[in-house]
Amino acid sequence: MLVNGAVVAGKGASPVKGRSTEELDQIRGLLRSRFEELDAEYEEALAQSQRLRLVEIGDSAGDDQADSGSKTAERDAATSLLRTLLDRRTQAEYAMQRLEDGTYGNCEGCSNPIPVERLEVFPSATTCVNCKQVRERRAS
Ligand SMILES: [Zn+2]
Repeated sequence: MLVNGAVVAGKGASPVKGRSTEELDQIRGLLRSRFEELDAEYEEALAQSQRLRLVEIGDSAGDDQADSGSKTAERDAATSLLRTLLDRRTQAEYAMQRLEDGTYGNCEGCSNPIPVERLEVFPSATTCVNCKQVRERRAS
């Protein structure tokens, strides 16, 4: 039931302004593979950080100061990597939702579709190159 509903909703959704179905499919595939990539990286980083933690618990008894210092640095790096990956994964997920809503991939400035080539490089881009340059000029 739920699956059927989702399919119908997808077909019935109004197309994004100026974007062909092929392009939408292309972007959808782009976002999905990005999400899966990040998801795999995240899982791997998570396993890695859990290993670090176990090692730490396991042999911290005989450590001198320098050793535990480098371990802390290692763990901090792992934690910040995890946070970054999780953040990017959430962004990709959010982008997929917005694509289905018809609000992803259009420029916030001029509301024209952002070229697929740009989204491929910057999936989180919210403006086209022109509007981005205008904004940057205004900001400086
Ligand atoms: Zn624009």
